[in-house]
Amino acid sequence: MPELPEVQALVDFLGERTNGLVIVGIELGSISVLKTYDPPPTSLHGLPINSVVRHGKFIDIEAEGLHMVFHLARAGWLRWSDTLGATTIRPGKSPIALRCRLSDGSGFDLTEAGTRKRLAAYIVRDPAQVPGIARLGPDPMSQDFTVANFAALLEGRRTQVKGLLKDQGFLAGVGNAYSDEVLHAARLSPFALASGLDEEQVQRLYSALRDTLAGAVMAASGKPAKELKDAKRAGMRVHGRTGQACPVCGDVVREVSFADSSLQYCATCQTSGKPLADRRMSRLLK
Ligand SMILES: [Zn+2]
Repeated sequence: MPELPEVQALVDFLGERTNGLVIVGIELGSISVLKTYDPPPTSLHGLPINSVVRHGKFIDIEAEGLHMVFHLARAGWLRWSDTLGATTIRPGKSPIALRCRLSDGSGFDLTEAGTRKRLAAYIVRDPAQVPGIARLGPDPMSQDFTVANFAALLEGRRTQVKGLLKDQGFLAGVGNAYSDEVLHAARLSPFALASGLDEEQVQRLYSALRDTLAGAVMAASGKPAKELKDAKRAGMRVHGRTGQACPVCGDVVREVSFADSSLQYCATCQTSGKPLADRRMSRLLK
């Protein structure tokens, strides 16, 4: 799933490529992808794109006061074409969920792999009409997001930091991958309770959050959409690297698996060398 750095790179990429262009067509390959019905997709036809911005992991394309907003979810992606095919996309079995045609013949497709369709698009007059945007917590990359703000958010939260970092209502833009990376950089256990962190640990977590995301934004910046997934994977130190060596201490990267996700961490760097209990592992050992 693309997270803040990749979404930011997509936003920058789209902002540059769509500058001065007019939307000439919105085609739906899946009816269910569009979560709104008024204004209809045709209301965007003929409108010039004024800006492309990010809200958490949402991309917001604004054209004359109308906003086409989308969230790529777990298996969704954006595929840009300088010359988009002539075939009109129609609802059916196409892997293309939505196609947007622009006035110079270019455009993009939103695609989604797999059978669980989560990709969501909205056409609204105000981005705050999108429920997922209305409930977003602060953006960790915004200039006014200080360590004091962060400490206030964490205070009294008897919740594991891993879950909290991924919660879009708590913080906008971080998902499963970067929360693993941030916790590794902060040398904190994913299961540590937010309310139990001391001042120094909060500072460390804040710095790790900002530095990890800033580094990833820099690495992703300027890359075309099709290269972003590989760039993201290449930048990971523990996430998705179970069994490989921790690049900091050389210990093996371990995993804790849940019903529909998993997390990776380094025991030496993050949990004083003690492996965390893994539900699946302990079930196998019974
Ligand atoms: Zn390590």
